Amino acid sequence: MHIIVMIKEVPDMERVRFDRERGVVDRVSASAEINPFDLYALQAAVDLRDRYGGRVTAISMGPPRCVESLRDAWARGADACICVTDRRFGGADTLATSRTLAAAIAQLDYDLILCGEKSVDGDTAQVGAQVAEHLDIPHSYYVEHVMDIVDGIISLTTADICGAKQSRKMKLPALVSVSRQISVPLLPTLQRKLESIDIDVQKFDLDDLSLSETDVGSKGSPTRVSKIVVPETIGRDSKIFRDDLSGFIEAMKPFVKGRRS
Ligand code: FAD
Repeated sequence: MHIIVMIKEVPDMERVRFDRERGVVDRVSASAEINPFDLYALQAAVDLRDRYGGRVTAISMGPPRCVESLRDAWARGADACICVTDRRFGGADTLATSRTLAAAIAQLDYDLILCGEKSVDGDTAQVGAQVAEHLDIPHSYYVEHVMDIVDGIISLTTADICGAKQSRKMKLPALVSVSRQISVPLLPTLQRKLESIDIDVQKFDLDDLSLSETDVGSKGSPTRVSKIVVPETIGRDSKIFRDDLSGFIEAMKPFVKGRRS
């Protein structure tokens, strides 16, 4: 079985800075890492490969430096890595991103695509479903468990928003967007980490895809970001009331609505 895992490289959101004037994320202001939600998809893919045999290919669309996140994915168990990178992909919204990723994946002979629930930076949770639609394959979101894969049918359980569980079956090839319940991401071994330095990461650019320049990047993005507002973080002050119940009640009064005076 050939499982494709979609890996997005994201800035370390604890440290990244926002360029308030230009209203954009200053992506070089922080180190980059694999989108935390994608680690669950990667581990689930490795677990399924170990259970059913086959191979796992990690694919990422981004600037050339996303090769480093793909090396990390290899160190965590992927068998091959593909970097989809081209200056003409810059400024892509989710539609252009998904169209580009789908065009790259369409070149591969695959059975199953796994992706994370959402990214921690763009946070739209749109790309997985969009890729499935471009590829005209079934997809399921918030998948918590893969029961089995028999005769080209994958049986899985998903959690829906009200917390109820749903059992579903999909004919492969299909796309599965996983939730964090599906796996426990393991750390890379030192051996694989060292080997990952020398692996060959395959590259796809626009000329390798059956797309034109107006399909990708900002030219292929109907979405226009009008403004990014970074909420001011209010300072957190804290006070400890030790054996001072009346002082605590006095301090809480301004926050209690409809207070009895
Ligand atoms: P989600 O839909 O939340 O991700 C869901 C899952 O899809 C992920 O867990 C992952 O498995 C997969 N996935 C998502 N993105 C990728 C990827 N690139 N490669 C592989 N798998 C992926 N972002 C920039 O970095 N640079 C820009 O210049 C830029 N310009 C933008 C311009 C506009 C007008 C808009 C609207 C957005 C722009 N963005 C830019 C944001 C970028 O479009 C989104 O982050 C991207 O489309 C993915 O959407 P998302 O982060 O919401 O992913």
